[in-house]
Amino acid sequence: MPDNLMDKIVSLCKRRGFIFPDSEIYGGLANTWDFGPLGAEMKNNIKKEWWKVMVWHRDDVVGLDSAVIVNPKVWEASGHLSSFTDPLVECKQCHTRFRADYLKEGKYGPVVEKEGVFYCPLCGGELTKEKKFNLMFKTYIGPAEETANIAFLRPETAQGIFINFKKVLTSSRKKIPFGIAQIGKAFRNEITPSNFIFRTREFEQMEMEYFISPEEDKKWYDYWKEIRWKWYLNLGMKEENLRQRPHQEKELAHYAKEATDIEFKFPFGWSELEGIHNRTDYDLKRHQQFSNKDLSYWDEETRQKYIPYVIETSAGVERSLLAFLINAYTEEQDKNKETRVVLRLHPKIAPIKLAVLPLLKNNKELVQTARDIFLKLQRQVDYLIDYDEVGSIGRRYRRQDEVGTPWCVTIDHQTLEDQTVTIRDRDTMKQERIKTEEIIHWVEEKLCINSL
Ligand code: ATP
Repeated sequence: MPDNLMDKIVSLCKRRGFIFPDSEIYGGLANTWDFGPLGAEMKNNIKKEWWKVMVWHRDDVVGLDSAVIVNPKVWEASGHLSSFTDPLVECKQCHTRFRADYLKEGKYGPVVEKEGVFYCPLCGGELTKEKKFNLMFKTYIGPAEETANIAFLRPETAQGIFINFKKVLTSSRKKIPFGIAQIGKAFRNEITPSNFIFRTREFEQMEMEYFISPEEDKKWYDYWKEIRWKWYLNLGMKEENLRQRPHQEKELAHYAKEATDIEFKFPFGWSELEGIHNRTDYDLKRHQQFSNKDLSYWDEETRQKYIPYVIETSAGVERSLLAFLINAYTEEQDKNKETRVVLRLHPKIAPIKLAVLPLLKNNKELVQTARDIFLKLQRQVDYLIDYDEVGSIGRRYRRQDEVGTPWCVTIDHQTLEDQTVTIRDRDTMKQERIKTEEIIHWVEEKLCINSL
């Protein structure tokens, strides 16, 4: 791993338009980030790959897009109002807030404790006693800020799935086992947002709830751990950067019987990318109880009525994006002893798939031909392509390498004679000559080969 990897990634992200500090012209807003042109593109690619594998390629999972602000009773039923809390301590001297569990684990530095009192890892001041802090963002519906109008921004997308379970079941005519998938924003008033986009207050989740017969929970839990693990590997994640960590009983969420985290080796340590949970029948039972609506399932084959168990897979879009960037970042020395930065992103998630470059900028014919090829390709493909004529060809290749563009098409003098172009591979830097009319097919083929 290169030195100061996080700093290098943060700087590359800002410089090249992946991720910007939010509201920077007003001094920013701590730990809040905006996704620039390439970041937005990469996020969309990650979501598309998730949706493809989790919904399009299966006939037992359907999609959903539910509301962010829902009836507050949902959060009573789900347990989020009473249990969605983190233990908070504050330094009496410098007023920094810490998550007490992380503090005791030494995540902020060596733990200093004397006779049951903990001290601040930053200034040495005494810390307050732990208090519970609810992570849900509160808001008001309508103009009057009254208790009766309180609502919450959803802290997870999962509940939108549970409250729609019956309607999706009947409208899609699915039978158990089947799943509902959803991608959307979630909001958590985190005590210690940190590590760039790893922990923020606003983020996107890719969640799938798989409804099953209670007897089959072990089988489906193992099945989904495997499917989700492979998703990361198939998108180029190195196996040595991933691990599965089963939760110990004491860390299980209030709804979970069993849970495993897929963790990534971040520069700041192994941390969760995705959680796979056996949520049992907790959520549906609670919603049945609080809504007085029957949420049971009638199994025609076994002639039994039951509340389904649920296996959940829950991943963060931004965390995945950060992990994919770290996984892909490489520095090499070229023959001139200059550092070549390459993002070896899987082509499917690379923001730009193809760049079209005229060999020389000051040759009108080359530039015109390159522009024509670019504009034609742009209308024919369903991914982002780029055109660049600024600077030497070597510099332009470097610029594309740095943002992970897998292929560059170069238009040279031979193109004018025989309508062929060179196509350069980011990772091998090898060039091949192909016919202009074959570019799309060539890329499509590579995209297929690259997806296992
Ligand atoms: P953590 O222990 O890191 O707080 P969690 O166990 O609370 O995470 P889950 O509730 O299981 O997380 O959420 C599922 C996924 O949503 C996480 O694996 C992560 O990818 C993403 N996620 C959760 N909280 C955040 C956050 N504050 N910022 C960015 N992504 C998040």
